[in-house]
Amino acid sequence: MWLANYRVDLCDGAAGEAAVLSRAPHGVRALSDRDERRYALVEEAPVRRAAWPGDQRPIVVGAGPGGLFAALRLGEAGAPVVLLERGEPVERRHHDVRAFWRRGELDRDSNVVFGEGGAGAFSDGKIYTRRRDGDLGWIFRRLVDHGADPQVLEEGWAHLGTDRIREILPRLRQRLVDLGVDVRFRTRVDAFLVEAGRCVGVRLGDGSELRGAPVIVATGHSARDTWAAMLDAGAAAEQRPIHIGARIEHPQRLIDLARYGRARGDLPPASYRLTSRPPQGKARPAHTFCMCPGGTVVAASNLPERVVVNGMSYSGRRSSLANAAVVVQVTPADYPGSDPLAGARFQDAIEARAFCCGGKGFKAPAQRVEDLLAGRASTSVGRVSYTLGVRPADLRDVLPEPLIDGMIAALRHFDRRLHGFAGPDAVLIAPETRTTAPLRFLRSPERESTTLPGLMPIGEGAGYAGGIVSAALDGYRAAQVLVERFCPRLA
Ligand SMILES: Cc1cc2nc3c(=O)[nH]c(=O)nc-3n(C[C@H](O)[C@H](O)[C@H](O)COP(=O)(O)OP(=O)(O)OC[C@H]3O[C@@H](n4cnc5c(N)ncnc54)[C@H](O)[C@@H]3O)c2cc1C
Repeated sequence: MWLANYRVDLCDGAAGEAAVLSRAPHGVRALSDRDERRYALVEEAPVRRAAWPGDQRPIVVGAGPGGLFAALRLGEAGAPVVLLERGEPVERRHHDVRAFWRRGELDRDSNVVFGEGGAGAFSDGKIYTRRRDGDLGWIFRRLVDHGADPQVLEEGWAHLGTDRIREILPRLRQRLVDLGVDVRFRTRVDAFLVEAGRCVGVRLGDGSELRGAPVIVATGHSARDTWAAMLDAGAAAEQRPIHIGARIEHPQRLIDLARYGRARGDLPPASYRLTSRPPQGKARPAHTFCMCPGGTVVAASNLPERVVVNGMSYSGRRSSLANAAVVVQVTPADYPGSDPLAGARFQDAIEARAFCCGGKGFKAPAQRVEDLLAGRASTSVGRVSYTLGVRPADLRDVLPEPLIDGMIAALRHFDRRLHGFAGPDAVLIAPETRTTAPLRFLRSPERESTTLPGLMPIGEGAGYAGGIVSAALDGYRAAQVLVERFCPRLA
């Protein structure tokens, strides 16, 4: 039997609708009239340019959601911004990613995590937040203006899909170029220039220098080389807990049956979100993360001889498989050292073990859940979506014991919540290490490094975001600080 709960609110006119939306428990907080005026669609809003101080040329490093929205806000305010991106524009990046997924040919600067759009480009494109007002309104309006379905303004659980994201990005780029932003691809920042204790520019991969300030660094959770460069330049950072585990993959119809109680028919592919909190000292807490209904498990490494997995889906979510990360709590006490990069070394060691267990060719180690629970290695795993292929394995050879214990406790618990979760059709593909950054750069409320003025660490890589929307918001707000400082008339 299939049961659903609906609540129907009747309202009279726009004011009534806004009142209903504002109290709907799973609804979206709608744009107010003030928001509509302030964050008007780009075509409607005249570009408000101002005399940006001649000696202030902001540099934005990284064209993921954080960097793109920082550059867009600055560009709209008339700032002479330079946007530097180590990877390719999304059209060419798409070919680079395909070469990796099909043939294991890795481009270290243009891949699933690097290139225009950042890590969000080859993602599920879930943009989960119930708010569409305030600064988020500015972001959502621009997403729609550049090609996102206007429905995302109304859905609390909106999903763009990787194919749609790829259509939005070139339009966003064109907008930046029209605003006068100097957008440079295949331009990697290798070091930061420091004079009299201030960051005054960057050194590029070809050895040349580019002077400008402030430098907004939005390089994401996988640019470990850039973290090292920031630390070398004098930016202080601290360790931060993360979650690590594996992707679990099931037939989508198993999830539909468990959630809907029957085949889904015309309903969207079902999803889930599960949490495990074993009694203190028994096993570590764990949860599912980034569930991709009708999705695909993808190879997401940017480094040779390292295996990393993640999940994504297309807007139609038509794959017959469903995946999600099952991740277990990791704390700085697990890291091999007390320096800020120790967490990255912890991730890296797991990724290197996975490469070996996978047969040293970007195949991912995989284990049937039943085998993991029975304490034996898998000898076969059945059909999975991971295009580079998997190698049946024992995930104990990849993940440290406390993580395996946490995962086993979670899988047993989740199986009681969602029938079949730990059944014979469930396969784990490992490792899911890049859930977020294992460090945080210390910054002031104005988003400036507390130890290196002129440097603004933002987004997921700086430890201040955990998804597309929060990274974009951090970028917008960093830019807004500069607009308020240099052009208060426009803020
Ligand atoms: C496969 C996958 C699926 C995901 N699914 C979702 C999802 O459904 N929903 C969601 O909200 N989040 C998802 N995420 C997470 C989301 O993508 C990130 O949280 C978000 O992209 C972080 O934005 P960011 O701008 O901080 O960094 P990033 O998006 O990582 O962007 C950083 C950019 O900086 C560039 N860069 C790095 N170093 C340098 C350098 N030295 N010089 C120049 N450029 C540099 C990189 O090439 C990259 O383009 C997913 C991530 C992955 C990998």
